Amino acid sequence: LCVLGIETSCDETGVALYDTRRGLLAHALHSQVELHAGYGGVVPELASRDHVRRVLPLVRRVLEEAGETGDTLDGVAYTAGPGLLGALLVGASVARSLAWGWGLPAVAVHHMEGHLLAPLLEDPAPEFPFVALLVSGGHTLLVDVQGVGRYRILGESLDDAAGEAFDKTAKLLGLGYPGGPALARLAAEGDPGRFRFPRPMTDRPGLDFSFSGLKTRALTAFRDTPPDATLAADVARAFEDAVVDTLAIKCRRALEQTGHGRLVVAGGVGANRRLRAALQVMAADRGGAVFFPRAEFCTDNGAMIALAGALRLQAGERAGLEIQARARWSLEGV
Ligand code: ATP
Ligand code: MG
Ligand code: FE
Repeated sequence: LCVLGIETSCDETGVALYDTRRGLLAHALHSQVELHAGYGGVVPELASRDHVRRVLPLVRRVLEEAGETGDTLDGVAYTAGPGLLGALLVGASVARSLAWGWGLPAVAVHHMEGHLLAPLLEDPAPEFPFVALLVSGGHTLLVDVQGVGRYRILGESLDDAAGEAFDKTAKLLGLGYPGGPALARLAAEGDPGRFRFPRPMTDRPGLDFSFSGLKTRALTAFRDTPPDATLAADVARAFEDAVVDTLAIKCRRALEQTGHGRLVVAGGVGANRRLRAALQVMAADRGGAVFFPRAEFCTDNGAMIALAGALRLQAGERAGLEIQARARWSLEGV
């Protein structure tokens, strides 16, 4: 089955073609980072309008690159939520209309299911079952994954998502937007011994997270220490170490609790080098394995939506003729 996937849930327009036999055939992405940078965050209306401008040219480019046309496809998948409603409506309307015009089935994909299945784009792909750690700008989830569509949430963040905590901490350190990657670069120069921040909620049982306190700790350390040349880098390092350590502790706990050997990590923070290294060490120590998407498929992209759509289509799923877009949508409800 060959499926076109369209992602427009936030500030990237992603389009891709995935074939269940041949794998990923083509993918294209347009990031709106520069459009929103001056505002310090995503401006929903600007995001929607830019998706309108980008999505069809990207569809044409991907089809041309792969040498496919509407006649040779088997379906069109689109991100139906969660995300910014106006942004979602753009991708959903275009995808639903293309499917209707081409006489193809459409599939409405949950954005976090896309992130969760993204490691399946790689070789070797993880087999089911596994534990998934989803760490993105809006979510921090530990999920017991038994198969496509069989998800049980084991734990989640009670306040800020991991990526959101990275972005907010970066902002208070004076790094631009989006700050996660910039904070990680600065942390690489920091001294890990200067500050030590807590590992929130690791001293009690359970798999939930809380990251907003770490942001406050970073703020007070930064504000109340007389400034010197390495202060920002040292605070960034203490923050990153605390987040990485906390995530690794909870991942280990989730693997122990479920008995699974495989851990899958996805979402933008999954691109973080120190997190990847810490989880490799933890998984190796347990005799298990950890799987990541390549860095560009950790953040939003069309490939993960085309893949998730193809697997759902293969399982017999079809969306109705209505255009589906939901700002909020639980992963367990898919
Ligand atoms: P959601 O998927 O929950 O709707 P989103 O799509 O905005 O949110 P992603 O695109 O998956 O999130 O990831 C973006 C987040 O990842 C941002 O918060 C960004 O700062 C963070 N991020 C990206 N690279 C890194 C990195 N190397 N280290 C830490 N954080 C990172
Ligand atoms: Mg984004
Ligand atoms: Fe995302």
